[in-house]
Amino acid sequence: MSILIKNALLNGERSHICIEDNIISEIGNIVEADEVIDARGMIALPGLVNTHTHAAMTLLRGYGDDMPLHEWLQNRIWPAEAKLTGEMVYWGTRLAIIEMIKSGTTAFNDMYFFMEDVARAVNDGGIRALLGYGFIDLFDEEKRENEIKATESFVRYVENMKNSRIRASVAPHAIYTVSKEGLEWSAEFAREKGLRIHIHIAETEKELKDSIKEHGKSPVKYLDSMGFLGSDVIAAHSVWLDDEDMEIYSKRGVWPSHNPSSNMKLAVGKAMPYSSMRKWGIRPTLGTDGAASNNNLDMMEEMKIAALLQKLSGDPTALPAHEAIKMATEWGSLALGFKAGKIEEGYLADIILISTDIPEMVPMHNWESNIVYSANGSAVDTVICDGKILMRNRRIEGEEEVLRKAKEMAERFYS
Ligand SMILES: [Zn+2]
Repeated sequence: MSILIKNALLNGERSHICIEDNIISEIGNIVEADEVIDARGMIALPGLVNTHTHAAMTLLRGYGDDMPLHEWLQNRIWPAEAKLTGEMVYWGTRLAIIEMIKSGTTAFNDMYFFMEDVARAVNDGGIRALLGYGFIDLFDEEKRENEIKATESFVRYVENMKNSRIRASVAPHAIYTVSKEGLEWSAEFAREKGLRIHIHIAETEKELKDSIKEHGKSPVKYLDSMGFLGSDVIAAHSVWLDDEDMEIYSKRGVWPSHNPSSNMKLAVGKAMPYSSMRKWGIRPTLGTDGAASNNNLDMMEEMKIAALLQKLSGDPTALPAHEAIKMATEWGSLALGFKAGKIEEGYLADIILISTDIPEMVPMHNWESNIVYSANGSAVDTVICDGKILMRNRRIEGEEEVLRKAKEMAERFYS
């Protein structure tokens, strides 16, 4: 199967992009293809990469807002999550994938429960994902043994799916929910199997203070002291870091996932130190976090929110539009370990087309500014992932059924 994208704007110039199976095979020449997309008036961008989310939490969108973090978790989120079933997680994830496609995301990094059902949803939904079973042992040895078995079994499940769009990660939740033994096992197992590690690090000041009290060091230094950190680690939030922590991130090649909406909504107290990270040579990526703490999965919006949050600190040159796009494409793909995130020959064919004939894109003095500061996910017209057209003219096959099932599943929180 081959696709020719004709006359798209690529890096500001009119170009033709040819896809052969799931790979970008040629840029520049018009060639014969099974399917031709006339992309005149559209910007071609690599598919966006959401590096931190809990996809099935779409079912909890708006279920508890405007509450303190602890009360929110204890009174709303955790009791609701206790009611979740595999079927609910499947349809919640299908809903998330529809929402991601409609706002231009072609790959995401997930951590949750019922991960076999998440993997089935990704298989059926058509996009790319790195999936990790949320390992939480609460410092209990028996729980730890169960979590180890659950992690091993999920990794085997993904291996047996033999779907190149889906990869397993090892996902210990955080240092305040996983024992030292659990963290060490996670890192060792991930490295033995060549898998990525997905964890929450330094989200709140409480996490930082508790870590200093219990371990005599920051969360980053605590993790580094056990050899946990490396270029295979994706660290969600990474808000409460000092210069020594950032030096460690830089040395080990850790990938921070910046989650600005979630951080502001849950009032973590300050912004991730983006400019300092860049000085250390760190390449931050971008994520929405789950829909309960955002409340959507729109990465176009998230780019704007990230850029604005950094400027609020007093520097209007912090996080320019060009870099926001890099966070959401190239750096995100590198973090997840997929050869995507660039529209170049030999890269995976994950491409989105953005309309320019809509009010918020007119006029176009600077296409990158328009994308980051003016447009949102509704500007995305066409989405291709792994060489397959998932959305055209904003139409996705099977969307109605997914919305209907997701509504039905969400009713179960009240029964
Ligand atoms: Zn999270």
